[in-house]
Amino acid sequence: MRIEVGVLTDVGHVREGNEDAFAIEPPLYAVADGMGGHRGGEVASQLALQTVVERARAGEGTLADQVRAANRAVFARSSADRKVMGMGTTLTAAVVSGETAHLVHVGDSRAYLLRAGALRQLTDDHTLVNRMIKTGEITEREAAIHPHRNVLLRSLGTDPEIAVDEQDVGLLEGDRLLLCSDGLTGMITEDQIQAILEATPQPQDAAERLVKAANGAGGVDNITVIVLDVLPGDDVEPPDPSRGGVTAAPAAGAPVVTEPSEERRMRKRRWVRAAVIVVGVLLAIAVADTALRAWLETRWYVGVANEHVAIYQGIPADVFGFQLSHVVEQTDIPAADAIALPFYAGLRQGINVDTRHDADVRVQQIRSDLQKAKRTAGAAP
Ligand code: MN
Repeated sequence: MRIEVGVLTDVGHVREGNEDAFAIEPPLYAVADGMGGHRGGEVASQLALQTVVERARAGEGTLADQVRAANRAVFARSSADRKVMGMGTTLTAAVVSGETAHLVHVGDSRAYLLRAGALRQLTDDHTLVNRMIKTGEITEREAAIHPHRNVLLRSLGTDPEIAVDEQDVGLLEGDRLLLCSDGLTGMITEDQIQAILEATPQPQDAAERLVKAANGAGGVDNITVIVLDVLPGDDVEPPDPSRGGVTAAPAAGAPVVTEPSEERRMRKRRWVRAAVIVVGVLLAIAVADTALRAWLETRWYVGVANEHVAIYQGIPADVFGFQLSHVVEQTDIPAADAIALPFYAGLRQGINVDTRHDADVRVQQIRSDLQKAKRTAGAAP
């Protein structure tokens, strides 16, 4: 069998630069989606692919070894160069040999297989929302609009060591493999992707139509698409540059990086670790605090303020001295009178009600019970 390739990367309609990158180095095909301020994302995705391509050309190790080397290269650059500190990249790559595609994957770019009328996602997104879907916390629908849908749990270059997903996929003639960045899958549905792939026989046309559809849906991110057709025959056909398929040659003459002393680097690394932990803890507190406040706003009770019956929002408790409620309305009903009634002995501890309206009803009840009690007392001899 032979492979025919279509490829296109596009900045999209919103981003200023294209931080995606791809490599077509038969039998190696890869996409990378970089992230990190300023030029960080661009540097990360290109450096990662450049490292993989160089190692592949030199025949050094397996594809996963090459990806781990790319991780170390991006991490080293990120640690050494303040301008690209904290950068990272996804990487999804396939090496086709014989009748097998060997896939490696880190991040939220994806590989799909179109076979016999079905489109199957081969890779697993290393994202927070994907984990939340798996634990049943949210649905796929909710994930698509989740505010943290871009949070990656794994990416190249952010840690000195990385776990790389690997799998072998047996290929059949007529199969179509798709490698793409989330600028495609974040904009159009899998049904739309499948419809375009099925309606477009030429792989380069398919890549172009997919990018066009993502842009048509908003193009809020960089979009990169590689379409690999598995065809009968022996020749591995290189992509045709006249049709937009470009072989990404590794950038010549990478910028010279001055390496700080090992000790300084370790110190910096420890400092970064500590900072990450502190930020994580602060975020967790902020999230918990926001959730608690939102919940407290839904709680109501009737209690005592300044020796008068009052309506509170929150719960009648305090945590480490922090009041979890506040007075919304103080009535003119003396607390002592209400507490003397048969049903309101617990007023000082707070009587829980479901809504603000229920609180008003409860206050009205106290008022009318008091009047009744007075009338009864007046009528008594
Ligand atoms: Mn992206």
